[in-house]
Amino acid sequence: MSEMKIITPNWDVPAEIIAGVSTRAGGVSQHPYESFNLAHHVGDSAARVNSNLRLLTDRYPQQLQWQWLQQTHSSDVHRADSCCAPVIADGICTRKRGLVCCVLTADCMPVLFAARDGGEVALAHAGWRGLVAGILERTINRCNTPAQELVAWMGPAIGSCHFEIGAEVKTAFLAIVENPEDKEVLQKYFKATGEAGKYLCDLYGIVRFKLTQSGIARIYGGQYCTFCEPELFYSYRRDDVTGRMVSFIYIG
Ligand SMILES: [Zn+2]
Repeated sequence: MSEMKIITPNWDVPAEIIAGVSTRAGGVSQHPYESFNLAHHVGDSAARVNSNLRLLTDRYPQQLQWQWLQQTHSSDVHRADSCCAPVIADGICTRKRGLVCCVLTADCMPVLFAARDGGEVALAHAGWRGLVAGILERTINRCNTPAQELVAWMGPAIGSCHFEIGAEVKTAFLAIVENPEDKEVLQKYFKATGEAGKYLCDLYGIVRFKLTQSGIARIYGGQYCTFCEPELFYSYRRDDVTGRMVSFIYIG
């Protein structure tokens, strides 16, 4: 078994904020889920996923409570005061110490948030549908911390080198901004591929734009492409049947 590798955000937040993203390394799942798949809904053996979950939670303090979501590409946000069974939502925020916010992804972007004073954390699952539906704005609004006091980190997602979309996705994004200047800015995140009606979409650019518009000035991350790094990341676009990484954040 390879050694577990957790990517930690390189951002400017207080030391009590603990966050990470799992990679494919260090688990017991077999092909095509090798090896550290943390999702039960993708066809992997339940026993192996449970073993992987145990490997993950054993690595962190035992008193932590891991709050899972049942993600649906919505803009629903769960404000967690105590840990419970998986909640149907695509965003989560909490001020509760030791409550771990978790999001599963394989191409969609996990966007992590922390208050500069260390008193609040949040996490959003941002694919194109969720972004169009307003998942980032709704997660930020659900926090008690003003946007200006939040720090954001953009976790591993499919890069503009590989995220090909149809014209309907571009149209959906452009429809959510009213003012012509914003439309012009958003246009830049869609590059025509040469094939009719196909574009390469820059999710990081769009997320950065939306975070900035929401009042967040401190934005980090955005350096990975899940499709480009098969050793490290699951990618739904690349492999279709595959596992999921977990992104997590808590106040320690
Ligand atoms: Zn790529």
